[in-house]
Amino acid sequence: MIALALAMMGAVHLERFTFTEVHMGGEFRLTFYANDAAKAERAAKGAYGRIAELEQIMSDYRPSSEVRGLVFGGSQPVSRELFEVLAMAQEISVRTDGAFDVTAGPVVKLWRNARATGRLPGAIELAQARSLVGWQNVKLDAKYRSVTISRDGVLIDLGGIAKGYACDEAVRILGSYGVKSAIVQAGGDIVLGDAPPGADGWPVRIPGEEESRVLANCAVSTSGDTEQFIEVDGVRYSHIVDPRTGVGLTNRVMATVIADRGLVSDPLATAFCVMGRAGVSTARDFGVSLVLSVE
Ligand code: ADP
Ligand code: MG
Repeated sequence: MIALALAMMGAVHLERFTFTEVHMGGEFRLTFYANDAAKAERAAKGAYGRIAELEQIMSDYRPSSEVRGLVFGGSQPVSRELFEVLAMAQEISVRTDGAFDVTAGPVVKLWRNARATGRLPGAIELAQARSLVGWQNVKLDAKYRSVTISRDGVLIDLGGIAKGYACDEAVRILGSYGVKSAIVQAGGDIVLGDAPPGADGWPVRIPGEEESRVLANCAVSTSGDTEQFIEVDGVRYSHIVDPRTGVGLTNRVMATVIADRGLVSDPLATAFCVMGRAGVSTARDFGVSLVLSVE
């Protein structure tokens, strides 16, 4: 009884806080409930510290990142975090038939240049980049927590999975500070902890749906070509590529996935943009919800 009374008194004092910082090329917004500003600051600092750590491991923009050090040659031991992300990436590559593939790096790079210059990649350079794509060129050894890249020129790009994982970790770290009612958003990736005090969940808008959903303790990721694309001769090419053809998507689809973790929702949302309707049965296999919408 006393514990319950104290818990209720605690709940009365909970205040809502929001923090925003830029990491991994975009804003990470933390919204959560805490007893006071000092506690909130500490928790937010802890969460952002963790996100910064993950960025140093997973950023393909930073030459000093751990993932950039993964090159052709013998087996290389990696951090627990990088191994976990690569292992999930591999599993999703297998189960989406390569629609999601972190070795799409060389073609992603070409399309990134295309966006910057306004010119489509040439056929020869595209064919060459595409020949380097293939998740089979990355071998993982769980026993030694090591990675072997079996082909020269392979470039790993975690842009479709790292943010979801970072949101998971931010929610976990907030929890370790006693902050359980939390929502972390980075662009199209959202990870939710417990509901706000006295509520059933956090309202989340899903593209293609009229009403917000009220959610807690899950992850929601949306992918699509809303912002990053290049338009040439009236055709719009997305920053998401089909790794099997090497071409930026032109289908203008948006995919939202609701899963238990950002580590799963983020890559699956990217994969389902590539797969379109064919993703419906794969989503069922994974036990996640999928909402597809065409702009
Ligand atoms: P956003 O970065 O806008 O949240 P996504 O989660 O869909 O969107 O990730 C897109 C990023 O993933 C691209 O910018 C690129 O770095 C990488 N990428 C593009 N296509 C694929 C793909 N088919 N498989 C894996 N990664 C991809
Ligand atoms: Mg994604």
